[in-house]
Amino acid sequence: MRVIVIGGGASGMISAIMQKSLGFEVTMIERNEKLGKKLYITGKGRCNLTNDCSKEEFLQNVVSNPKFMLSSINTFSPSDTMSFFEELGLKLKVERGNRVFPLSDKSSDVIKALQTRLEKLSVDIKLNETVLSIKTENGKILGVVTDKGEYLADKVIVATGGITYPSTGSRGDGYEFARSVGHTVTDLYPSLCGLNLKGEEYKALQGLTLKNVKLTATQNGKEIYSEQGEMLFTHYGISGPLVLTCSALLARRNLSGVTVSIDLKPALSDKQLDDRILRDFSLNKNKEFKNSLDALLPKAIIPLVIKRAKIPEYKKISIITAKERESLLTALKSLSFDVLSLRGVNEAVITSGGVSVKEINPKTMESKLIDGLYFVGEVLDVDAFTGGFNLQIAFSTGYSAGIQE
Ligand SMILES: Cc1cc2nc3c(=O)[nH]c(=O)nc-3n(C[C@H](O)[C@H](O)[C@H](O)COP(=O)(O)OP(=O)(O)OC[C@H]3O[C@@H](n4cnc5c(N)ncnc54)[C@H](O)[C@@H]3O)c2cc1C
Repeated sequence: MRVIVIGGGASGMISAIMQKSLGFEVTMIERNEKLGKKLYITGKGRCNLTNDCSKEEFLQNVVSNPKFMLSSINTFSPSDTMSFFEELGLKLKVERGNRVFPLSDKSSDVIKALQTRLEKLSVDIKLNETVLSIKTENGKILGVVTDKGEYLADKVIVATGGITYPSTGSRGDGYEFARSVGHTVTDLYPSLCGLNLKGEEYKALQGLTLKNVKLTATQNGKEIYSEQGEMLFTHYGISGPLVLTCSALLARRNLSGVTVSIDLKPALSDKQLDDRILRDFSLNKNKEFKNSLDALLPKAIIPLVIKRAKIPEYKKISIITAKERESLLTALKSLSFDVLSLRGVNEAVITSGGVSVKEINPKTMESKLIDGLYFVGEVLDVDAFTGGFNLQIAFSTGYSAGIQE
């Protein structure tokens, strides 16, 4: 059996290892000068390679088409991923939120572990070579055409990734291969990225990190997302952990009427916060309003809160009315901004959308349209939240295709 794997990323490498372990003749074709360019930048260079969670928790973190993942996560679970890498000699550690990293904190060690096994198995690795098209005949795979020649194959595994961070080599070629043989590719969207905000107000907040705040996203008043954690303001709007997770739920929506609202004091009820403000005010009776919030808020955000509260900044604290305090409370508990759009594919962590999973066998990752053609990893219409879940998708699907006889 001759097997071609297109793409030397996370999913392609595990597919190639498993296919070669079955004794097949395996050629892996990678356009870059080295393997795993995207893997290298994962987890800020530390590679959060999976999440040490149950299969159920994993599925809860898959945003698009979790049901499709049921079978492959049963075949190759997060704990199987951990065992797999430990058997390759990579020591692992588990951090906050069950995130799994190499003990060395180096993504290059993850790549090295996979590459060493590929070399040990003598997988034929073709670097600096780009697959241009796939060839089929009568509903069966025939091989691939590259910029250097042609390869015949009984099986082709497309592991070309998504369209984000195209500088890593993942430029969406797999979607074209899929379309060329009649597969449906859904609309593609950036996901796990920052949000561009409307207006100008956020600009003065650039660089401000907010910890322990609650971010809520709503569309025309209906809640889409609400969670507590960390976020930051940037030159275009907002980013950070809360925002990335939120973006995954906004990725496929028309964003008209979408608003994000920040509760700057989520640990305090309205009553507790009002008591706290009254206490601060009583200590600052003779001060002007603008000088009364230093103990409560980071400096950078005070001017905006004052503006939203609509209280004159030079007003003496002693004459601030209960009604004005109420509007201050609203500004503190729901500081809202209108969302303009998601950041683009150059910055997004993953692609939401891809080869329609309706046309893929969820057990084997084989195309239901073309015999011997497989799709694995991010090229599929499956995506998840941050936390190691996206690489787990790559490993589970890559492994599932890799063990097919
Ligand atoms: C900045 C960043 C940080 C991330 N951090 C994490 C993290 O910590 N944890 C996590 O779970 N996920 C993370 N992700 C997501 C994760 O990297 C992807 O989900 C995963 O890499 C997808 O694996 P893949 O094998 O499908 O595709 P890729 O890893 O993208 O690999 C595809 C490969 O195919 C090659 N290729 C494409 N087309 C062709 C062609 N025509 N011919 C030859 N070769 C081709 C590309 O060069 C590439 O090497 C991160 C992503 C980014 C951008």
